Amino acid sequence: MATSLLLFSAICRLIVIVGLTLHPNDFLFAGTESQLSFNRKDIQAASLDFGKMTSIEPTAVLHPSSTADVAKIIKLSYESAHGFVVSARGHGHSINGQSQAANGVVIQMSGSRGTPVAPEVSEKLMYVDVWGGELWIDVLKSTLQYGLAPKSWTDYLYLSVGGTLSNAGISGQAFNHGPQISNVHEVDVVTGKGEVVTCAEDKNSELFHAVMGGLGQFGIITRARIALEPSPQRVRWIRVLYSNFSAFTHDQEYLISLHGQPSSKKFDYVEGFVIVDEGLINNWRSSFFSPSNPVKISSIAAGGNVLYCLEITKNYYNHSDPESVNQEVDALLKKLNYIPASEFTTDLPYVEFLNRVHKAELKLRSKGLWDVPHPWLNLFVPKSRIADFDQGVFKGILGNKTSGPILIYPMNKNKWDDETSVVTPNEDMFYLVALLRSALQNGEEALTLERLNDENHQILKFCEEQKIGVKQYLPHYTTQQEWMDHYGEKWSQFYKRKMEFDPRHILATGQRIFETSFTSKMKSW
Ligand code: FAD
Repeated sequence: MATSLLLFSAICRLIVIVGLTLHPNDFLFAGTESQLSFNRKDIQAASLDFGKMTSIEPTAVLHPSSTADVAKIIKLSYESAHGFVVSARGHGHSINGQSQAANGVVIQMSGSRGTPVAPEVSEKLMYVDVWGGELWIDVLKSTLQYGLAPKSWTDYLYLSVGGTLSNAGISGQAFNHGPQISNVHEVDVVTGKGEVVTCAEDKNSELFHAVMGGLGQFGIITRARIALEPSPQRVRWIRVLYSNFSAFTHDQEYLISLHGQPSSKKFDYVEGFVIVDEGLINNWRSSFFSPSNPVKISSIAAGGNVLYCLEITKNYYNHSDPESVNQEVDALLKKLNYIPASEFTTDLPYVEFLNRVHKAELKLRSKGLWDVPHPWLNLFVPKSRIADFDQGVFKGILGNKTSGPILIYPMNKNKWDDETSVVTPNEDMFYLVALLRSALQNGEEALTLERLNDENHQILKFCEEQKIGVKQYLPHYTTQQEWMDHYGEKWSQFYKRKMEFDPRHILATGQRIFETSFTSKMKSW
């Protein structure tokens, strides 16, 4: 009884916001109360994210059962006198509240209630159609039944398709296949006007390009058609170490320059990371495999030197000849200048490799180190300035305690479509530098949230003062001027697209790019 009263009053409050004379049943989406939830647990869950640094409550959480449900709630806001904000939430793995919706509605696209539409694979045309909230791990499971798999990945698979496509979706395959947004054939999108539009490169292309890397600003992706390839069965996974940064980047750049070669003459995945200190929290993405390491990392890193680890893989099939796999790997390794005897190799099933970060997640969870604040900073650094970045940041600002993995790997700009909403540095090659750090309030002073946030500010200030020309990936800004600077020449196109597809600024206000016309009413509500 008490729950019903609460539900009724919450619905009435939402009605007051939208300024319509609606009956509460209108919000119940075909009569099932569970779909528009005012439940405290749902509200609280939707007010948090992986970053654990921002908490903003919505008024309600919609668990949609179709694209039509998504369209219905957005249309309701768009056509009402006052309106309310709406944000899609994938798995809530943002850092700075990007999928939150202050006093509005969060549409929970992924979640324990399952997805409205099961993935549908076309074996012949090698694609899969998936719900926008589908997690990549489930996309993989469904395509593997047909011996197929997507080509471009993120390192972690418990992220939603709509969430990664709203950013770009990158991993060590991006040098070869481009980011995930370069591997999508078409999408269904619900715009900020509540219209459902199917779009692709050659169909409603303005909206297609807008939503790719569009930070949720132009519409909610409810279906994506993702390109597939025959799935490899196994992976040779190799790590080699460098103490010389210029040898490290030279080799990374050489390896990604091979993208146009036949697959026998290139690696399938190229990443790398910086090793400042060892330990679970620092290297949860990178614990070394072999118990009989030929060299101890600490012996190479004598004198507190920074080390760099190149990480590469070679995919192969059950039918591959093991001897030719060895030969292909050896031929590529011979061209590299890593520290002799610093080679670590393992061989594992493809799925286990793709899902490697989940293993680390379980380890961190068991030690209470997963649900902590994550002041992550991801930067695209132009190739021409990566050495300056190394001097100023890895060997300068960071000191010898990193509090989380630091990834560094280059990508080829020609694999990115400039028509999309993403911004990358204006050079043929650029690096991702991902500072994936965890704050531990009860730990050492060097690991506190304040300290890590302060270091992030120092890094951004250093890049600005030295005119490094970085662009943030998974960007976070708090003023429109900063967003305008981020988009640079692309801002006018970004703005025009916003006016066309979400003119009332209903969508993804957690990104803090556009002020909505009804924010102030909501605050006082
Ligand atoms: P959310 O955080 O829920 O949403 C992100 C943004 O997209 C929000 O603005 C939201 O409103 C919008 N959005 C969500 N769904 C939709 C939709 N269907 N349509 C339109 N807009 C939508 N990224 C990489 O590229 N490579 C990596 O290797 C990688 N590894 C990661 C590892 C971990 C452990 C974590 C926590 C994150 C990682 N990320 C990586 C970042 C990840 O891409 C982002 O967190 C991204 O936002 C996806 O998370 P999500 O699906 O939970 O989306």
